[in-house]
Amino acid sequence: MPEYEAVIGLEVHVELRTRSKAFCNCPNVFGSEPNTNVCPICLGLPGVLPVLNQAVLEYAVRTGLALNCEIASFSKFDRKNYFYPDLPKNYQISQYDLPLCRNGYLDLEVNGVRRRIGITRVHMEEDAGKLIHGEGEKADYSLVDTNRSGVPLLEIVTEPDLRSPEEARAFLEKLKAILQYIDVSDCKMEEGSLRCDANISVRPSGTDILNPKTEIKNMNSFRAVYRALGAEMERQCAIWGAGDRVVRETRAWNEAEGTTVAMRTKEEASDYRYFPDPDLVPIVIGRDFVVRIREELPELPEARRQRFIKEYGLPSYDAGVLTSSRPLADFYEACVSAYRDPKTVSNWVMGEFLRLLKVFDLEVTETRLTPSHLVEMLELLKEGTISGKIAKAVFEEMFQTGKRAREIIEAKGLIQISDEEELGRVVDEVLAAHPGVVTDYRNGKEKALAFLVGQVMKATRGKANPQTVNRIIKEKIQ
Ligand SMILES: [Zn+2]
Repeated sequence: MPEYEAVIGLEVHVELRTRSKAFCNCPNVFGSEPNTNVCPICLGLPGVLPVLNQAVLEYAVRTGLALNCEIASFSKFDRKNYFYPDLPKNYQISQYDLPLCRNGYLDLEVNGVRRRIGITRVHMEEDAGKLIHGEGEKADYSLVDTNRSGVPLLEIVTEPDLRSPEEARAFLEKLKAILQYIDVSDCKMEEGSLRCDANISVRPSGTDILNPKTEIKNMNSFRAVYRALGAEMERQCAIWGAGDRVVRETRAWNEAEGTTVAMRTKEEASDYRYFPDPDLVPIVIGRDFVVRIREELPELPEARRQRFIKEYGLPSYDAGVLTSSRPLADFYEACVSAYRDPKTVSNWVMGEFLRLLKVFDLEVTETRLTPSHLVEMLELLKEGTISGKIAKAVFEEMFQTGKRAREIIEAKGLIQISDEEELGRVVDEVLAAHPGVVTDYRNGKEKALAFLVGQVMKATRGKANPQTVNRIIKEKIQ
């Protein structure tokens, strides 16, 4: 059987975090009572006129520039006609033949291989409403919540340049980081602000055949995208391997079963009967406008990674992890500006901080631990008030309670013992209790020293200064 490779293209929908919706003044917020953020415009009632929210255009241009796209000087909105119960006006305002942004790219590095993934287009559109299906056996109804109707979306479409599920996941992670850096979306997948469909076909590795592709929907996390693409790739390889043909269709990801299932055959663009929206004027984009937005673009993840390496002397790995999200990079820089030991700060942020975020399933911005908490603790550690071991416990308590390091160590009596006389007494006790080990050390067994230091640490409940203990033991044994 030949080796197969995947040909994957992604369609990503991003909800923009503007204050109001795309074409009316209704608030763009998540989680309101159903059907409270609606008006005749976003419901498409007769006799109303939509007007484009300027912020949508600005966010869209910002995104296009961050993804290295050409920004059109002339663009327009089209109606995408289809009937679905969550779409009261039976068409969606979208863009068809004249999208705002085209021909961009995003560079990826996966397993040490650098690849450029083409961005076909980025266009503006509005979101549809949401169906809430009745639950339970007798629930033979669905309810419609139109709060989301008219929420501004960007659709980002890639070229079929991705070659594996790993690359697809890496692309999405990088795209999400960029969108957060440029502050156009909160990218919360669980609230639907970032959604992704994927096209996938397979072919013998190294060939340029384009086989029929399937489109996979219903993936609600990056992990789901990765798993769904893996499962679908396997399914298609088995079909070709058995001498059959893959059928072009839309499939849904079933998370519980770990498989994709057929939904329907794929629609063609002609099914939507696109035509220019007669209610919205075409968009003429001035070069000044684009230049201004380009100048206002913040530093993007890749540039920030390079700067972290140069400015802080960090290893490339550290710089990559720290700049993978803007809040994390901001947290790190806030710490470093107050505590000028970049590698030590990096170790704590990448180690304990990320570990605890994962344990408690929190985002950087959701914790009670601020940069000043960490800086204060690092200073106590540096001046020897607490030991490294105690510092870890203090860090965890700061993380959970938001208390300051000083407050915690005073309340718990965790101040490091550096007093030589006091430590000397403990060392004497330990040496007296382990004469055999002392002999071992005198006979050249280096490991014996570590054991003795460990005993002193234990006797002082981790509060002894290990360097001092080390020195005192050596002095006393020699
Ligand atoms: Zn409205």
